[in-house]
Amino acid sequence: MGMATRGKTGIKVCRKCRIMVEKEICALCGGSDFTTTWSGFVIILDPAKSGIAKKMEVSVPGKFALRVR
Ligand SMILES: [Zn+2]
Repeated sequence: MGMATRGKTGIKVCRKCRIMVEKEICALCGGSDFTTTWSGFVIILDPAKSGIAKKMEVSVPGKFALRVR
């Protein structure tokens, strides 16, 4: 496939959900619109009790990028 990482993290983040993705499709939306250009992340363990999760409209635990381009 010849993907260049250019010194970025190489960690993919779904543009739509902002969740970090380790597979070929996003576990949340099933999409494949990923970016490796993102900054900051938050680990949400308990979405029901997390203000950040509510703000980000996250309902599942996981690692989420704060800013995604
Ligand atoms: Zn997604």
